[in-house]
Amino acid sequence: MRTAIYPGSFDPVTRGHLDIIKRAAVQFDRLIVCVMVNAEKKGLFTPQERVELLRRVTADIPNVEVDASSSLLADYAREKGAGCVVKGLRAMSDFEKEFQMAMINRKLNPGLETVFLSARQNYTYLSSSIAKELAMYRVPLEDFVPAEIAADVQAKMEEQLCRQTRRTE
Ligand code: ADP
Repeated sequence: MRTAIYPGSFDPVTRGHLDIIKRAAVQFDRLIVCVMVNAEKKGLFTPQERVELLRRVTADIPNVEVDASSSLLADYAREKGAGCVVKGLRAMSDFEKEFQMAMINRKLNPGLETVFLSARQNYTYLSSSIAKELAMYRVPLEDFVPAEIAADVQAKMEEQLCRQTRRTE
């Protein structure tokens, strides 16, 4: 069974992420989308909430599983019996860091390959940060995040804005 891991922050999952998930899912028998938890980076959503949003938007793709982990990716892949890491590339600016990560992962787990999928042209500008910034300005989010989670992203942003306003009063 060919198992791959698609790691990321997914804070929150965007249409660009979902496009990579769908395209990777047809290339492998099993795709694990893993929210990599970074204790130093506090996101808009908690890791568990990100998992829940990812599960909702991938519910109709049978060979996709969603998980969260604070392990080193190379160790996590070994633990899951995965031979491949999937990454999306938006621009050359993504490449340098991702290439370095691929080398490190192979050094730590010699059997681990990294496969890069190029972003679909209309999503090359899209990131979770952009989606959050647009939510701050109450721009409709349906073109940027999957439609079924757009209201959740907006509501979470409103909560954060409300908390910030209270703190500055
Ligand atoms: P970001 O916070 O930049 O949106 P993540 O850390 O969650 O990204 O990204 C996880 C993976 O998804 C990375 O390999 C990243 O390059 C890729 N990715 C992010 N956005 C897109 C997009 N719009 N199209 C294709 N791949 C993407």
